[in-house]
Amino acid sequence: MAILRIIKYPEPELRQSTQEVPLAEVGAPGIRRLVEDLVETMYSHNGAGLAAVQVGRPERIILIDGHVAGGAEDAPPVVLINPTIEHLADETETADEGCLSFPGIFVPIKRSLQARVSAYGLDGKCFTIEAEGLYARALQHETDHLTGRMIVDFVGAVKREIIKRKMKRVAREEAEEAEESPARRVSDAKTL
Ligand SMILES: [Zn+2]
Repeated sequence: MAILRIIKYPEPELRQSTQEVPLAEVGAPGIRRLVEDLVETMYSHNGAGLAAVQVGRPERIILIDGHVAGGAEDAPPVVLINPTIEHLADETETADEGCLSFPGIFVPIKRSLQARVSAYGLDGKCFTIEAEGLYARALQHETDHLTGRMIVDFVGAVKREIIKRKMKRVAREEAEEAEESPARRVSDAKTL
């Protein structure tokens, strides 16, 4: 397994078009390895979720932390391949949302309180999730990544400029850190 570099906004790969994983390849070694690397990358950054496009891969694969998904503290992450949002409840809630591609930035985002999502698992079987609260929010956040939509797209022009400026600083710091200590692990607050 490997910890992959998480792509930060405004790097253009975050807006690349994504592709469904062909069903014949769902359980194949290449996809399994990618999922293992995504899991390790998400945990090393203390993330609550991650989309493959955040490490520069076009496959439509997302992960949600097992605890966020309603499991025990050490529950394995939920792996969703080719996820589709089937239904979003009308009832919404606004809460601050972070993203591993925007370290240190939180944006209030209105999301549906409940979401029904279907996807394929690594076993090649289709399953459906009825999620609520943070789980539903995380699913909406990660599926947004698959269409190139990110937290910066929920703010006005002024705030977007502030975020862009902060992210330039993050990019500078990341470049400096890479020179100093390439193996340093990042520990963010719970972010998606
Ligand atoms: Zn994100």
